[in-house]
Amino acid sequence: MEHSLPREYDVIVLGLGALGSAAAYWSAKRGVRVLGLEQFELGHARGSSHDRSRIIRLSYFTPAYVQMAKEAYRAWASVEEDADERLVVKTGGLDIGLRGSSARMSEHVSSMRACGVPFEELDAAEIRKRWPCWHVRDDVHGVFQADAGIVAAERATDALRRAAIGFGATLHDRTPVTSIRAEAGEIEIEAVGTHYRAGKLIVAAGAWTNDVLAHFGRSLPIEVTKEQVIYFTPQDPAAFALGEFPIWIWSGEPSFYGFPLSGETRTIKITQDSAGKPVDARTRDFEEDAEIIARVRGFLERYLPGALGPVDLVKTCLYARTPDRDFVIDTLPGHANVSVAVGDGHAFKFASLIGRLLSDGAVEGCDLTPFKIARPMLSRFHDSEHDQRPATDG
Ligand SMILES: Cc1cc2nc3c(=O)[nH]c(=O)nc-3n(C[C@H](O)[C@H](O)[C@H](O)COP(=O)(O)OP(=O)(O)OC[C@H]3O[C@@H](n4cnc5c(N)ncnc54)[C@H](O)[C@@H]3O)c2cc1C
Repeated sequence: MEHSLPREYDVIVLGLGALGSAAAYWSAKRGVRVLGLEQFELGHARGSSHDRSRIIRLSYFTPAYVQMAKEAYRAWASVEEDADERLVVKTGGLDIGLRGSSARMSEHVSSMRACGVPFEELDAAEIRKRWPCWHVRDDVHGVFQADAGIVAAERATDALRRAAIGFGATLHDRTPVTSIRAEAGEIEIEAVGTHYRAGKLIVAAGAWTNDVLAHFGRSLPIEVTKEQVIYFTPQDPAAFALGEFPIWIWSGEPSFYGFPLSGETRTIKITQDSAGKPVDARTRDFEEDAEIIARVRGFLERYLPGALGPVDLVKTCLYARTPDRDFVIDTLPGHANVSVAVGDGHAFKFASLIGRLLSDGAVEGCDLTPFKIARPMLSRFHDSEHDQRPATDG
């Protein structure tokens, strides 16, 4: 069928959640012609990047992640400057769990030590002293890191897009990409009857990644799950005040995490990590899962009773999970001009940095080897029937 000449860009970004918006921002900041396309309205709640808050922290499982987290703070600072808006608030972060039951906490400690990140190891008495709302026995311990905090998720994604537009990017919402052709180093795509051509395509499609990769005859072993977060009105709001109470992650199986009081709503967000069931992003529902609420209530009754109160709000959100819970940040094999990023359930804190990596290809101090598409874990899980994915946390 005849069609009008395609519109020309240097880079097309497919998907404008946190990662795609960041890729559009950094690409436009470099001065290239950027087109960003989003299938739904900007800021929609069907993917992974909506809601008010995400945890940002330096305590991580490997030194490579700690190094990246350091760079992530710098990448957010750049967005804050360009968007003229504060997006990251430091609250301090508490990793907490039963002694001897969490390998993850010792990984965090050794990774931070390897990267020269200051932190404090706390016994139960010190935890109770600093935050009396934690009802912990002496078999509990913790690690406190002062730089951890909150990225204002929806505002940050919006700021990335605003800054991208400020640098000249063209962004279209309600524009699903329905066809992609890669020929002679050029990418041609179709969206809502319009054809676009570019030298480079960045795929940041979250839970829809495999629908997009199908245009290249490829897929990745990504499991999409419907997660949920719960906003409680605490019995004792003062104990959870921003500036007094840190973000926290209970390391263990199951793992839980939570935030201090949100100034706007007087509620606190808490949930169980990786508790969701597999869904298809195209057909998933938005119903709340009463079992997750019951497990979170049980945890709070035991350890943080002052947080318990009426449930104000429940929100659902998708994880696009890899088998090893490491991201994908790579070019598509056989297509050097197609980059792909998949953020698993913990990429928001890194979103600005990942956008820069997708746009520049390299940032000093960031080792992208763990995020290669060709890593053994991804090919092994392609064929596995027994998918035993580990839990991570925000
Ligand atoms: C409950 C929950 C809690 C989390 N907590 C944390 C946390 O505390 N800290 C942290 O760092 N991370 C956290 N994360 C993870 C983080 O939010 C995600 O890793 C991140 O938001 C992923 O962003 P994304 O851009 O890849 O995906 P998305 O935001 O889903 O964006 C992908 C976009 O691509 C669009 N798209 C797909 N196909 C097409 C197409 N054909 N045409 C056009 N557009 C298309 C989609 O509509 C979508 O908007 C959490 C996630 C959830 C769900």
